[in-house]
Amino acid sequence: MTSGMQTKPYDFVVIGGGLVGLATAWALLQQYPGSSLAVLEKEPQVAAHQSGRNSGVLHSGIYYKKGSLKAQLTAAGRTAMLAFCDEHKIKYEMTGKLIVATREDEVPRLQPLYARGLENGLALEIVGQERIAEIEPYVCALQAIWVPQAGIVDYGHVARALAQDLAQAGAEVHLGAKLQRFVRKNGILHLHTSQGEVQTRVAVNCGGLYSDRLARQTGVDPGLRIVPFRGEYFRLRPEAQHLVRGMVYPLADPRFPFLGVHLTRMTDGEVLVGPNAVFSLRREGYFSRDFDLQDTLESLSYSGFWRLVLPNLKMGLGELMRSGNVRVFARDVQQMMPAVTAEDLLPARAGVRAQAVDKDGKLVEDFRFAHGDGWLHVLNAPSPGATASLAIGQHVAAQAAELVN
Ligand SMILES: Cc1cc2nc3c(=O)[nH]c(=O)nc-3n(C[C@H](O)[C@H](O)[C@H](O)COP(=O)(O)OP(=O)(O)OC[C@H]3O[C@@H](n4cnc5c(N)ncnc54)[C@H](O)[C@@H]3O)c2cc1C
Repeated sequence: MTSGMQTKPYDFVVIGGGLVGLATAWALLQQYPGSSLAVLEKEPQVAAHQSGRNSGVLHSGIYYKKGSLKAQLTAAGRTAMLAFCDEHKIKYEMTGKLIVATREDEVPRLQPLYARGLENGLALEIVGQERIAEIEPYVCALQAIWVPQAGIVDYGHVARALAQDLAQAGAEVHLGAKLQRFVRKNGILHLHTSQGEVQTRVAVNCGGLYSDRLARQTGVDPGLRIVPFRGEYFRLRPEAQHLVRGMVYPLADPRFPFLGVHLTRMTDGEVLVGPNAVFSLRREGYFSRDFDLQDTLESLSYSGFWRLVLPNLKMGLGELMRSGNVRVFARDVQQMMPAVTAEDLLPARAGVRAQAVDKDGKLVEDFRFAHGDGWLHVLNAPSPGATASLAIGQHVAAQAAELVN
């Protein structure tokens, strides 16, 4: 038993101090007033992984199928995130985003995306070259979709503010507390952590890159596996930052929506370029040299991994070529912004996406949740999970009713 943790069972313990875990904890306190709650985060700070290593985009929700959880929770989450930022004086900017068609064959593909965005309630414009030049003077494209409802924010700042709110509301956020194993006795979960044992009636798995492994330990077959894809970024050198005003995205391949190097002006003025997507040999591996035997074997022994990789070898090799290769990155960017040169690109950080892949090798598109035996699980919350986090939290907390009643 660690000093800061209570001896009697908590009502809720949330595993994971990323945005989804913190937002879920907050929603549980709202939906079950007076309950006792702790968050366990294995790292010395919150948002150490995906939540603090992303593109910082407040997504509009243009890409998601109408009625899907992604479409619903992104719209609700973005509204809630803006209100949260206003309330906590966290800087954000609705810069808008330009999705560009640079080749003739891409132009007709703008239309279905535009229609989907309208279905999702967005006010969009299809714009020609004159208007593109007004919005982003250095972009060279034939046509584009202008999405005014997209913006940027510092999600690390959001996570820290959420953790503070939780502490003020009487919840406990334990840092450096890694869940190692657990047993369930008489309806109480005994969680063994790196800081000692803690008991709870309900535990919530918001373990991000490790959420599938934790779910399997609880006896749930999630029907999917997290396959880690590292996303590496460059940044524009200060002298080139003026080339980008907001966000410039290529038209995504609908089969691999997270592919396609884009440019994003961050709230501090820095312009991120990327990310690519390379299979990572370690779930929390931010460098190409990072390797973990268990993580690698788990991916390589999974039939879904091979069903994803083998038919898409060409695409995978292309992404690998781009890894750390400034010339290849620059060539991609130049298709949209010819003025950017390889000399303008400086190395920047990387993030790893917790992308769930099903047994047939398909990327699990929608957010996915499960519950049972005292556990709630967040099984798939990739991008736009940061934008949607506050709404995801409300959604997960509502499912707790099935466990507490
Ligand atoms: C490269 C990249 C770019 C992205 N860009 C965007 C974007 O622009 N906009 C957007 O909306 N979304 C974006 N996303 C997605 C977004 O970052 C995620 O959807 C979101 O952060 C998921 O939050 P999370 O809390 O589920 O995961 P995480 O932030 O990864 O948190 C999980 C936490 O669980 C902890 N944990 C795991 N196991 C244990 C254990 N056993 N005990 C205790 N703690 C544990 C981990 O340490 C971690 O802190 C991006 C993601 C990546 C990787």
